[in-house]
Amino acid sequence: MSVAVESPVVIAIDGTSASGKSTNAKLVARTLGYTYVDTGAMYRTLAWHCLQKGVDPHDAKAVANLCRRWKTELVCVENQVRLLVNGYYPEKEIRTSETSAAVPHVAAVPKVREWMKKRQRECVQFGSLVMEGRDIGTNVFPETDFKFYLDACIHERTRRRVSEGVNENLAARDQRDSQRAAAPLMVALGARVINNSEMTPEQTSQMIIDDVRQRLHEREKRHAVARQKSRW
Ligand code: C5P
Repeated sequence: MSVAVESPVVIAIDGTSASGKSTNAKLVARTLGYTYVDTGAMYRTLAWHCLQKGVDPHDAKAVANLCRRWKTELVCVENQVRLLVNGYYPEKEIRTSETSAAVPHVAAVPKVREWMKKRQRECVQFGSLVMEGRDIGTNVFPETDFKFYLDACIHERTRRRVSEGVNENLAARDQRDSQRAAAPLMVALGARVINNSEMTPEQTSQMIIDDVRQRLHEREKRHAVARQKSRW
């Protein structure tokens, strides 16, 4: 059941690679009737586009130039936002190991991050959001009251990726994401940190949903008091 509020709510879910952000963000979005936004997919789409166009992902200037001229469109399909390139959604192509290796380099380019932040903020056109990524609570929507940071031990995260058929050096990608100068991965001020190494997605998403409902309830109470005072 959708929770009624006055303006769109943005739930920011950040965290390390394979910490369960996608699974939990989708569960939370479905339960609350919000739109799901996978910002990692947007960075992956640009990384894929660079590879398609023969642009070296390590060449920050060339990547920024390509991004500046990039023609894309944001659409919402079945409550999930997609970034289309010439009307095409490269769903499978963005998950290959080539794209995964290229993406942290592309994501470290400041002009790319500016471009992404604009597009990601435009997503409120689709209503209340559950947005997952690395810098949503710190940089994209720092004003939101609903911030979560997911993590799990490296063994558990590696196990999760391997069970999906992906063998990747997650620690290396996390290190690049945490150490870059532009909007690095970190815990946002006021974020609730959840280590879900020994939790199921149902338990993790329920913890997020309970927390959001509690905060929405408190917010509604504050608004009611303010409305009452304004009538006096
Ligand atoms: O979440 P996912 O693993 O698909 O993200 C792929 C990469 O995109 C991350 O490792 C990171 O380099 C970049 N990213 C980012 N900021 C976000 C989302 C993803 O830098 N908000």
